[in-house]
Amino acid sequence: MNLKETLVNTCHKVYANGYVAAYDGNLSVRYDSDKFIITPSGKCKGDVGIDDLIVIDTKGNKLEGRGKVSTEYKIHLLIYNSRPEINSVVHCHPVHATAFAAMGESLNNPVFPEVILSLGKIPLCKYATPSGDGLPNSMSPYVEYCWAFLLENHGAVTVGKTIEGAYYRMEKLEHSAKTLSVIRSMGREKTIPLQKLRELYSIAESTYGIKIDKRSRLDF
Ligand SMILES: [Zn+2]
Repeated sequence: MNLKETLVNTCHKVYANGYVAAYDGNLSVRYDSDKFIITPSGKCKGDVGIDDLIVIDTKGNKLEGRGKVSTEYKIHLLIYNSRPEINSVVHCHPVHATAFAAMGESLNNPVFPEVILSLGKIPLCKYATPSGDGLPNSMSPYVEYCWAFLLENHGAVTVGKTIEGAYYRMEKLEHSAKTLSVIRSMGREKTIPLQKLRELYSIAESTYGIKIDKRSRLDF
């Protein structure tokens, strides 16, 4: 399966799983060093086909495609331009993760070891008006280290070395937010103790290649 086919399949998966509604969300993949394939604006992800995909350059100019470039292309370019190892970006509005974002709560509480190992820290990026420079600016303090981001009052972004990697981080993020919302309906989560957290950080970095921001290493 080529990159365009994989991206289209992933669009269908995020819609089928309810991570987006109507025309929401945008997904992209690095095509080569200075070209990116991105979903069009105003098209439901459940209906996106290969011919709908758009190729843009590092400034967001359209090189190929008949539709309009997603309005959130600046989020994607911020990540690609900051992180050469990242080849795919997924932006969705999954219900549970977005609910935490709308409460102004990050998912940084260390509750699930697998989430720390696969997602690292999950910051809450301050609210910004969509479509402009505000959103990339709100993400930029975290972009160097993070693999999953909550956007306050908006949704979530995940990144990966592959389309599958970015997609599965979105799935993991939403699953953990959903589990946490069940925990909150029953009581309050227990967090992982600091010493055990250090062990997880160490495994995340050495085994999974998840860089942990040393400036706030113990301030999860
Ligand atoms: Zn959005």
